[in-house]
Amino acid sequence: MSAEEILTYTIKNYHPRLALAASFGGPEGMVLLDLMHRIEPGSRVFVLDTGRLHPATHDLVDRVRDRYGKTVEVVLPRAREVEHMVREQGTNLFYSSVEQRKLCCRIRKVEPQRRYFADLDAYVSGLRRDQNLNRRKTAKVEWDVGNGGLLKFNPLADWTRERVMEYVGEHRVPINALHDEGFPSVGCQPCTRAIGPGEDERAGRWWWEADGAKECGLHVKDDQDGGLGI
Ligand code: SF4
Repeated sequence: MSAEEILTYTIKNYHPRLALAASFGGPEGMVLLDLMHRIEPGSRVFVLDTGRLHPATHDLVDRVRDRYGKTVEVVLPRAREVEHMVREQGTNLFYSSVEQRKLCCRIRKVEPQRRYFADLDAYVSGLRRDQNLNRRKTAKVEWDVGNGGLLKFNPLADWTRERVMEYVGEHRVPINALHDEGFPSVGCQPCTRAIGPGEDERAGRWWWEADGAKECGLHVKDDQDGGLGI
């Protein structure tokens, strides 16, 4: 199924218990937002505001509101958990170890997303297979057990970066201003840098970690072959 066919199907069957998970830090989410808005102007989109995002990402949220007249559902971490973590381990604990980085991602991203998902039956994500090796087996439809049991649609799984940027240009889709400064993927400000020639698209994320999945826990699952075959 094409991206448009998948989105038409998901909106018909799951709206309004369906939302787009957009980081506002990659062009894929913006392409999906544009496609979904064309099918259903009331389609939902949420962003995890970790409290450490780039100003350019906040700017994009506001530009999307203006351009589409759309509510962006901003999901925040629990203040008490962030306070406790920062008090005990420091503001920039993520540079100390992979475990501390994952703790920060869990409190600022994974837990808020799970809380938000409690009211959904399905969500849409912008994962692509050629973003890095961990994502090479991304299925277009998955059953997301790790996030409480809901359907996850990845309509752009077989799109390339070039195709995404073609769509952006053709439809004048607003994207993060940092893409023009060498950031193909914009995460939290202290955890993202620009990449160099030949590096994979995720190389600028948690760059100080030499090896590992370079994932925050939002998309990792035990069985990378666990798609539903659609
Ligand atoms: S990307 Fe960095 S700042 Fe953001 S939640 Fe993860 S560790 Fe924390």
